[in-house]
Amino acid sequence: MAQVQRMSRLMAKTLRDDPADAEVLSHKLLVRAGYVRRTAAGVWSWLPLGRKVLANVERIVREEMDAIGGQEVLLPALLPREPYDATGRWDEYGQELFRLKDRKGGDYLLGPTHEEIFTLLVKDQASSYKDLPVILYQIQNKFRDEARPRAGVLRGREFCMKDSYSFDTEDEGLARSYALHREAYRKIFARLGLDYRICAATAGAMGGSKSEEFLAPAEAGEDTFADCPNCDFAANTEAVSYELKPVDGSAVPALEEIPTPDTPTIETLAASLGVPASTTLKNLLVKVDGEIVAVGVPGDREVDLGKVEAHFAPAAVELVTAEDFTGREDLVRGYVGPQGLEKVTYIADPRVAPGTSWITGANKDQTHAKNVVAGRDFEVDAYVDVVVVQEGDPCPNCGTGLKLDRAIEIGHIFQLGRKYTDALKLDVLGQNGKPVRVTMGSYGVGVTRAVAALAEQTADDKGLCWPAEVAPADVHVVAAGKAAQTELALEVSEQLAAKGVRVLVDDRAGVSPGVKFTDAELIGVPKILVAGRRTAEGVVELKDRRTGEREELPVAEAIARLTA
Ligand code: ATP
Ligand code: MG
Repeated sequence: MAQVQRMSRLMAKTLRDDPADAEVLSHKLLVRAGYVRRTAAGVWSWLPLGRKVLANVERIVREEMDAIGGQEVLLPALLPREPYDATGRWDEYGQELFRLKDRKGGDYLLGPTHEEIFTLLVKDQASSYKDLPVILYQIQNKFRDEARPRAGVLRGREFCMKDSYSFDTEDEGLARSYALHREAYRKIFARLGLDYRICAATAGAMGGSKSEEFLAPAEAGEDTFADCPNCDFAANTEAVSYELKPVDGSAVPALEEIPTPDTPTIETLAASLGVPASTTLKNLLVKVDGEIVAVGVPGDREVDLGKVEAHFAPAAVELVTAEDFTGREDLVRGYVGPQGLEKVTYIADPRVAPGTSWITGANKDQTHAKNVVAGRDFEVDAYVDVVVVQEGDPCPNCGTGLKLDRAIEIGHIFQLGRKYTDALKLDVLGQNGKPVRVTMGSYGVGVTRAVAALAEQTADDKGLCWPAEVAPADVHVVAAGKAAQTELALEVSEQLAAKGVRVLVDDRAGVSPGVKFTDAELIGVPKILVAGRRTAEGVVELKDRRTGEREELPVAEAIARLTA
């Protein structure tokens, strides 16, 4: 027996207008349809219909995690500082971490993700290789003081995540636990009805080696991924990287200085020399924990500061200011070249491969140099993919021009390795009786974000339009208004519920049929059943929310259709 939810008693008002601060579709619709309400910036309350959708997502996630042998636990969200000190994340997490003090002055945090606490749990519970492998998970609210909490529940400061952690004694075991999660995630997102791509990702501040993101293509997304139209390559643009391909630069004439008055920018330089910007070498200066570092990229490309930050993480990266040039005769503003930058670390994009020749600053005012060859005239301390990826850049696998699309990150899986188990000294006794350091994976699904991503992908101009498994009800029964219509609507609702169908019935008195139909489309339950004009004959209308197809049927047939 499923329940009948009466709209006359539902604690959720639909709104005609979009909330004033809403920028993205899911935010507008989830608020207007009465699923969520804003409590504070990035902090959301889930009303009855929203809670049902969220619970459905949680159930699907739970079933698929159980199916790979995951054991559900529930750890606290209020956490002590010490474990996060041991791994360095108390400081490294930066301003996103909610830190607080208890009455005795002790430091606490609100968990943004729980690697430390799970590692300690396993350290306490597992003593031998026989206790592993293990996969533990929880579905719990996380806290991150996001810089720009926007887009409604897509990016909250409190949000629900499924986080799981695998513990293995060997690398092959970790690869297996990772593969199990990858499969479970494919099933979860398919059941949710989400369109998604698995993309290569960077591990970022989490550390570790291999990592992939599950990205749901959507305009509202804050990630950009590169997709190859020819092969199966797909990667977050943050993670697109190229092999270093040295070229033969031995025929390039010797470095030559050229006077270039008033050319402090790439545009002015290229125009005055009549060369394409791509033949020049741009050297961006940044400060990494206060030390100046130069970043070299072709003059027609932009530096992706996020990639520079990721390379140097957890060190802080800032742009240089005019003051940073005082007392630095080696740094001539607007005319910096990598040759003669002895005191500065130089990183460059792989496009600046050994043997390539460039026009670049001569480290003298109003002067540039040409025939400046990488590996001959200057050394690159490290090659790092730092350019902003552009549509049409070659696929690193097959060379075809890449397509770029916006997407929402709905899941992320990491092979962390031993970063956390080293910091917290998690060993178990191995087969040979000696201690073995445990290796670890960590895996997240954005549960609240998945609800918003689904709304983004499935809504139409009338409103939300849920896939069956996550919808807050199976059928939305509408009583057009007269007493007999309401009576029939309630009766049909009870009969459906008795057969296990989840029903939302619009039994509101004094609300026009037009408003009820508009609300039904806004709320987005997959099937709409109307007790209207032909109620006296025992005929109802059955409508498909997505296709808009409608037909008139005798009550018994409509019920049979919905319970088939
Ligand atoms: P983002 O880059 O979007 O901030 P992240 O890389 O910080 O995400 P993870 O630490 O990998 O995210 O967290 C696991 C999952 O939790 C993400 O894939 C995402 O679906 C979800 N998530 C992360 N931050 C938020 C947030 N502020 N609001 C809602 N969901 C979030
Ligand atoms: Mg984040």
